[in-house]
Amino acid sequence: MSKVKVISFDAEGTVVTPQFSTLIWYEAIPLQYARQRGIGVDEGREEIKREYSAMGMQRVEWYDVRYWFEQFSLPDYKTVLDAYRHAVNLYPETEETLVSLSRSCSLVVTSASSRDFLDLLLSPIRGHFRHVFSCISDYRLLKTADFYHRVCDTLGVCPEEVVHIGDNWNGDYLAPREIGMRAFYLDRNGERGGEDVVRSLTEFQQIMLTELGGNGGSP
Ligand SMILES: [Mg+2]
Repeated sequence: MSKVKVISFDAEGTVVTPQFSTLIWYEAIPLQYARQRGIGVDEGREEIKREYSAMGMQRVEWYDVRYWFEQFSLPDYKTVLDAYRHAVNLYPETEETLVSLSRSCSLVVTSASSRDFLDLLLSPIRGHFRHVFSCISDYRLLKTADFYHRVCDTLGVCPEEVVHIGDNWNGDYLAPREIGMRAFYLDRNGERGGEDVVRSLTEFQQIMLTELGGNGGSP
């Protein structure tokens, strides 16, 4: 009998496409920024990109949309995010995987996106998840082993009882394994090989269903 109690999914690049985020970071924020300063959008975008790079991805603020809106003195981030709601897209196999695996296990999201993003990104599928964790908004942490520890503590499970899947090699594969969680690396581009590498959520679903004991809980 499998000891897996929880399956943990990364959000962007795993269950939802990066399209929404890409538009917010590289279109919506530059547009607001350029408008406010009376410069062209392309010029605004270049300045913004320099600011992002200067901050670097190793700081939690990099992921925090509220921080950037404050930093650039831009108006109402909520209205701006909401205007891009149309760009929230699931991967084609997402829903089926969640429905199928939720028959056998609790499902959670463990993401480096901020809560502001997750509320929108996950709105079509929120009901499948027992809990949604944002390392940035909940703990002011990057996606580190420490974050995964806290996730396990909150859920009241051992790391060995959780399987995580995501599309970032360090944050989704190496970090959870550091504390004894099992992890799968989702490589949609087919660049890496190895036994813990899958190409789609469907492939992951099939592996998990076999391990969980068959048909996903149907009679
Ligand atoms: Mg991701």
